[in-house]
Amino acid sequence: MRLSRYFIPVLKETPSDAQIVSHRLMLRAGLIRQEAAGIYAWLPLGHRVLRKIEQIVREEQDRAGAAEMLMPTLQPADLWRESGRYDDYGQEMLRIVDRHKRDLLYGPTNEEMITEIFRSYCRSYKDVPKLLYHIQWKFRDEIRPRFGVMRGREFLMKDAYSFDLDEDSARMSYNRMFIAYLNTFARLGLKAVPMRADTGPIGGDLSHEFIILADTGESEVFCHADLVEMAAPGLDVDFDGDLQPLVDQRTALYAATEEMHDADRFVAEVPVDKRVSARGIEVGHIFNFGTKYSEPMKANVVHPDGKERPVHMGSYGVGVSRLMGGIIEASHDENGIIWPDSVTPYGVGIINMRADDEATNAACETAYAALTKAGKEPLLDDTADRAGAKFARMDLIGLPYQLVIGPRGLKEGKIEVKARRSGEKHELSLDDAINRLAEGIFANG
Ligand code: ATP
Ligand code: MG
Repeated sequence: MRLSRYFIPVLKETPSDAQIVSHRLMLRAGLIRQEAAGIYAWLPLGHRVLRKIEQIVREEQDRAGAAEMLMPTLQPADLWRESGRYDDYGQEMLRIVDRHKRDLLYGPTNEEMITEIFRSYCRSYKDVPKLLYHIQWKFRDEIRPRFGVMRGREFLMKDAYSFDLDEDSARMSYNRMFIAYLNTFARLGLKAVPMRADTGPIGGDLSHEFIILADTGESEVFCHADLVEMAAPGLDVDFDGDLQPLVDQRTALYAATEEMHDADRFVAEVPVDKRVSARGIEVGHIFNFGTKYSEPMKANVVHPDGKERPVHMGSYGVGVSRLMGGIIEASHDENGIIWPDSVTPYGVGIINMRADDEATNAACETAYAALTKAGKEPLLDDTADRAGAKFARMDLIGLPYQLVIGPRGLKEGKIEVKARRSGEKHELSLDDAINRLAEGIFANG
């Protein structure tokens, strides 16, 4: 992409109403624009990152054996009357009446709808297990939307739902998602800790929240330090094998959110130098809730013994749009965002220091063509802005590598590569720089 044709409306002033760094940086770097309280337009750069996060979430759901589908944002109220949640959900639910005076709602989650779909087609033990997911916009009329995309009213969620014959099998579906989540967050460059959680209005008995530690997090959390550093299971996990040992390893150590915290147990179980008491951001939440929805909604399956029983269910959410805020909270400096390679909107920023110099333009075009061909998705700053502004903007938008090309260096056959995270600079020939960037040889610190 050429910046002269692109749209990155960078703000010079720090927006005064943005209280946390990720919100400030998302506005300043032109990733999002607020259209109403808690409702954002995703500008081109922000949209690109959102799509990359979404894609990683998708790949790990697929790897875990979940099947993608897409349910609508609008849902009939009658489905929610069946489960009893239409009245229970309260003011967070956005209720809509259509021209025929039929009650609809903008979905805050999809347990009811997926249960309706399941019961319409699946009647027998031969039809389970099933693990279905979608990535769709949700609306919750949060009383205090804040911190930008962290607590929006409209937000993008990946929600998966499992259907199993019995409790044991439901546990295996739960474990699949548990492991998939750890791998997902690791690929996003995040250290997420699974913590025992309250099941809240979704109900059920087994639940974990996945929390990334950050001072600006809204929840208070307590855990064993070793959990924070524990490596993710890895992409070669056999999802059809026994996942319980991997899950046990990560649930044996103390970790709880505020609602589930037991101060006496914390002190008894965690040595003093391993006690982490911190704030955290909830990026995912998984629930096993048995027959809470299948029973009232009559989603029954016939067991091998010929008897019909309600199917066992679970639901598994990831805050896709919230993750962008979380990633920035975890990865930035005083100059701006520092994207992990896995979600960066563009792989390399090429800074043309003198857009009116022929040799400089030619070298930039060479680099741009070669890096495009190598799949590095370069962003070429070919604007007439002054060098200082170009450097500041490139730092702010946080691409992992910058290629700085100017007439003075070119005369000596040199250009500069800067790694955004470490700030480390390398002077190289144009060819060397292109080859090394194309091969991913630079370490992004
Ligand atoms: P919270 O406790 O933060 O209000 P929740 O428990 O209501 O979240 P879930 O129903 O578990 O949320 O939704 C699954 C995931 O969706 C959450 O883990 C979170 O990452 C994300 N999420 C929930 N509410 C919002 C919101 N208002 N804005 C952005 N993301 C959200
Ligand atoms: Mg939750």
